[in-house]
Amino acid sequence: MIPYGRQEITQADIDAVLNVLQSDFLTQGPMVPRFEKAVAEYCGISHALAVNSATSALHIACLALGLGPGDWLWTSPITFVASANCGLYCGARVDFVDIDPLTYNLSVEALEQKLVHAEKAGCLPKVVVPVHLCGQPCNMQAIHELSKRYGFKIIEDASHAIGGKYRGEPIGNCRYSDITVFSFHPVKIITTAEGGMALTNNAALAEKMNLLRSHGITRDAALMTHEPDGPWYYQQTDLGFNYRMTELQAALGVSQMYRLDEYVTRRHQLAERYNRLLAELPVTTPWQHPDGYSGLHLYVIRLKLNAIDKTHRQVFESLRQQKIGVNVHYIPVHTQPYYRDLCPDTDALAESESYYAEAISLPMYPGLAEHEQDAVVSALRAAL
Ligand SMILES: *Cc1c(COP(=O)(O)O)cnc(C)c1O
Repeated sequence: MIPYGRQEITQADIDAVLNVLQSDFLTQGPMVPRFEKAVAEYCGISHALAVNSATSALHIACLALGLGPGDWLWTSPITFVASANCGLYCGARVDFVDIDPLTYNLSVEALEQKLVHAEKAGCLPKVVVPVHLCGQPCNMQAIHELSKRYGFKIIEDASHAIGGKYRGEPIGNCRYSDITVFSFHPVKIITTAEGGMALTNNAALAEKMNLLRSHGITRDAALMTHEPDGPWYYQQTDLGFNYRMTELQAALGVSQMYRLDEYVTRRHQLAERYNRLLAELPVTTPWQHPDGYSGLHLYVIRLKLNAIDKTHRQVFESLRQQKIGVNVHYIPVHTQPYYRDLCPDTDALAESESYYAEAISLPMYPGLAEHEQDAVVSALRAAL
């Protein structure tokens, strides 16, 4: 089976992890700050907080922004469930904004319309989570403009997008957002096995997320409400979690960061090759907005169902039978039974649902060889 995504682990990665295993610290040592510094410098951001997953990063990002019961979080339905679940963790309610038919990212027009209605109804969102689907950045400048007019905070879910750029600047610099989140799950652009990061230029948000990732406990006397009882003292100032990243993971992350640009370049080569090889087939290849340089985590095609006599499911099953590990990113979150039960009268989201009816993610990862890519294309031709 050729998978849809796969990590690449080099001898340098293995050595980096082994060194940590033989060192004094398996957790809370020097590697986590080193990884944070590497990512912060790459992205041009002042604060980077490593955690054990992007899901954890989204959770503490929402809490740091004050999201709670009575508030609304809005995101795109075409995302992994974590982009929405973080709102529910905080006791907030979640709603969805339909996607743009070209980029498949949250549509700025749909967002604006929804904001106009929400303002009248008195239920504006506190947090909006734009997701850079497949690594392609959302129209952040326009979303940021709307945030000033309607007073919401922005968390970029950049789980797919480290190594990409928006208007020539690295994704993760938070120029148009409060917080950006990365994922380092093995299928993503770089990996720490499990892992994530929250980035911000706001010192207060960073301090809050730093507390929340480690039980809400501080050893910094300046952050305590009374004098320490002694040198052993730590104070719990908030209800936090154990969301820390280990030293093993951070060492892997540092080592992977050296190859980040190489990985994204390779993904672009593969995407351009797919674009050429698929040009004659009845599929729509991914459109790239000129403002963005995608991390290209995923390569999603849409079937032109009117031009073939197969169903989406038949094409998908045929590819799997031919040992191509295709996938669908994503099942629209608002159609998940859990969300349907929670918000039974969520509006239909036409663009998201028609995307879902046609989308297939083809294998895309740096180690994908050209002959494997050719096999994917042959299998797709046969399936169609
Ligand atoms: C992978 C992913 C997440 C969750 O990442 P984890 O590190 O696995 O928690 C969140 N959002 C999106 C868009 C993702 O693709």
